[in-house]
Amino acid sequence: MAIREIVEFPDPRLRTKAQPVVAFDAELRQLVADMFETMYDAPGIGLAATQVDVHRQLLVLDVSEEKNAPMVIINPRIVSREGSQVYQEGCLSVPGIFADVERADRIRVEAHDVDGKEVVIEADGLLAVCIQHEMDHLTGKLFVDYLSPLKRELVRKKLAKQRRHAEPAAAGA
Ligand code: ZN
Repeated sequence: MAIREIVEFPDPRLRTKAQPVVAFDAELRQLVADMFETMYDAPGIGLAATQVDVHRQLLVLDVSEEKNAPMVIINPRIVSREGSQVYQEGCLSVPGIFADVERADRIRVEAHDVDGKEVVIEADGLLAVCIQHEMDHLTGKLFVDYLSPLKRELVRKKLAKQRRHAEPAAAGA
């Protein structure tokens, strides 16, 4: 297993549309293992393949407190959505930024598991938020896209400033 580099906003690679996974093979299992390691290390509750610069329709998630409920969702499709909820979201590709986003409260998702078997996932609450957030990544969309252009520009500036300040520490590591 290996920790992969997480691509950060406003890197244009985050705008790439992911292609469906067609080969459920050893390479896919390796990618899934690496994505879990990267997500738990960050730490985060979800990671889309797009964020590690692999443009395939694959998500890993674990929204449990104990970090013992890993989920792999491949080629997901939302087939129904109900209600709405507002949750303060963050993103490993937009570090240190949090903002309220409105999404469906309950969703039903058809997807594949890591063996290529078809699965149906019913999700609500935080899991529903997380799946919708990660699925956005697969279409090149980020949670900051839901903000006003002015707010998004502020986010861009704040991140640029954070990076400048982080450089000496990173160079010494
Ligand atoms: Zn994200």
